[in-house]
Amino acid sequence: MKNGNCCPKCGSYNTVRVSDNPSRHASGNNIYTSTFTLMKKIPVIRYVCVNCGYTENWVENRQERDEIKRTFG
Ligand SMILES: [Zn+2]
Repeated sequence: MKNGNCCPKCGSYNTVRVSDNPSRHASGNNIYTSTFTLMKKIPVIRYVCVNCGYTENWVENRQERDEIKRTFG
């Protein structure tokens, strides 16, 4: 999946990276560290196994992960 490994569920290498769509501000699988501004929206990158449907979610940016830790940690 993210690190070039096969799907942990079915072993398939038929996986795709699905990035956040910036035009969909109000939807999508994002983590919000603020309830009142979209500037704090943190995109979650998904890796989907096309073979079985297993999905991984990744926050790829280190600064954004630090922001999540400050907010929720
Ligand atoms: Zn799979």
